[in-house]
Amino acid sequence: SYLPADSDTSNSTRQVENACFSFVEPTPTAQPQLIHVSDEMVDEIGLSKEDINSKEFLNVVTGNAIYDNTKPYAMCYGGHQFGQWAGQLGDGRAINLFEIEHNHKLWAVQLKGAGLTPYSRHADGLAVLRSSIREYLCSEAMHHLGVPTTRALSLSLSGDEVLRDMMYDGNSKYEAGAIVSRVAPSFVRFGNFEILAAQQDHATLKKLADYCIEHFYPHLNFDSKEVYVDFFKEVCNASLEMVIHWQRVGFVHGVMNTDNMSILGLTIDYGPYGWLEGYDFGWTPNTTDRVNKRYRYGTQGEIVGWNLYKLANALFPIIGEADGLQDALEDYKDQFTQKYYQMMAEKLGLFDQKEHHELIDQLNKLLHKTETDMTIFFRQLSEYSSINTSDWFQIIQPSFYSVNVIVDQLKEEWNNWFKAYATKLNDQNLNDEIRQQKMNAINPRYVLRNYMAQMCIDEVKKGNYQLVDELYQGLKNPYTYQKDFDKWYAKRPDWARNKVGSSMLSCSS
Ligand code: AMP
Ligand code: MG
Ligand code: MG
Repeated sequence: SYLPADSDTSNSTRQVENACFSFVEPTPTAQPQLIHVSDEMVDEIGLSKEDINSKEFLNVVTGNAIYDNTKPYAMCYGGHQFGQWAGQLGDGRAINLFEIEHNHKLWAVQLKGAGLTPYSRHADGLAVLRSSIREYLCSEAMHHLGVPTTRALSLSLSGDEVLRDMMYDGNSKYEAGAIVSRVAPSFVRFGNFEILAAQQDHATLKKLADYCIEHFYPHLNFDSKEVYVDFFKEVCNASLEMVIHWQRVGFVHGVMNTDNMSILGLTIDYGPYGWLEGYDFGWTPNTTDRVNKRYRYGTQGEIVGWNLYKLANALFPIIGEADGLQDALEDYKDQFTQKYYQMMAEKLGLFDQKEHHELIDQLNKLLHKTETDMTIFFRQLSEYSSINTSDWFQIIQPSFYSVNVIVDQLKEEWNNWFKAYATKLNDQNLNDEIRQQKMNAINPRYVLRNYMAQMCIDEVKKGNYQLVDELYQGLKNPYTYQKDFDKWYAKRPDWARNKVGSSMLSCSS
């Protein structure tokens, strides 16, 4: 095969060398049962209704069968976790089943939670229901928000119990096991390069880079001696685009280790992620990161840069000089600042390509002074009119978690900010209706709020799958007002304030 495979075909835990992956087979499960299938992904990869209603499909997406002429495998990768080199990690509970070409697109289909692989280390290779629901719903929702992401095809119960005693609540140390089948053009990560560089296996490293260029960046010129620097620049651009989208929609990944960074700039590995409710640059959903808050909302752009720096180090041996890589890293920083402000200006409805840094900085400060719901604030803002400038308070009031603070202490500051804003809107000379349309196309009305996922988990645990479908369907059109779905256009309820987004969602899945 094109990439050297590990010669051992067992799933025994081991260090793997001179190879990018190991052949493995999924572990059969006790009583597989489909919870939900993404009709969109079924179409994308070219399956039919009959296909997915078959026993064979159920068996394949739960690890109980493989399609003829396929050879499932787990990939070898390393990574920097929370800033430290962690050595070999790899697909500890992910198994690539097959690749499929449809409508001239190549897709890889992978199971998450289908049993042990050579990379499982001390863990069990399994996934639990709560984290699987979260990955399934969020990856599809992100796609519909316009954020580059891996996709999900199916969500199933395995029928097996999984031991997770850190969630022990006095009742049971076991949780329901689940399997998500997920889909992407490729699941290669920065860490796939890092492990080969760490092993000083430069031949395989070069093969992996060639493979990625040939399949995913085919416009690059193999005859140029700059081809690997050009490849790196492409990864910088794709990662930049991804993180700007995260900032736009208020998504906080939570575990931006280099093994969770896709070489295609896709959002990958939905773990303890969360959505900003209160607009807070210091917020992270990951309770294991509450001290340093390395992966908080406000540092995501910088962390992508740090991760790219680690990828640059890994590619260095096949390039031999650092100048091109360094330039690309500098460029990333400049571009991030520029794109960030442009994105924020557009969220504010300022499409004139002028400089709005000060207005944006002031808004960011003001929004931190009292808890303000990010999604609702930007959505409401589109109702503001440069003609009727005095009614700003009524318009944005629904986004404040404690209205009294605004009235008593911040009204003057907000007043001033809206004055400056109104001036800019008038300068730009764009009709209010068109501006509103343009704003509503980038400021979502519905996101998968942390408590929504939690309610869904509670329902599924009771055997009720209706909410999975309701959220899946509604989040297909996050920018469009939907009468029957608009109950989700609401601030986080009080009961969810401390409960959700803390330990419940963060601990390992
Ligand atoms: P994560 O931070 O969830 O992306 O995972 C980091 C590493 O731990 C990856 O190599 C995963 O494959 C591995 N891992 C996480 N959970 C499990 C599990 N239950 N069984 C085996 N490996 C796991
Ligand atoms: Mg169809
Ligand atoms: Mg991971």
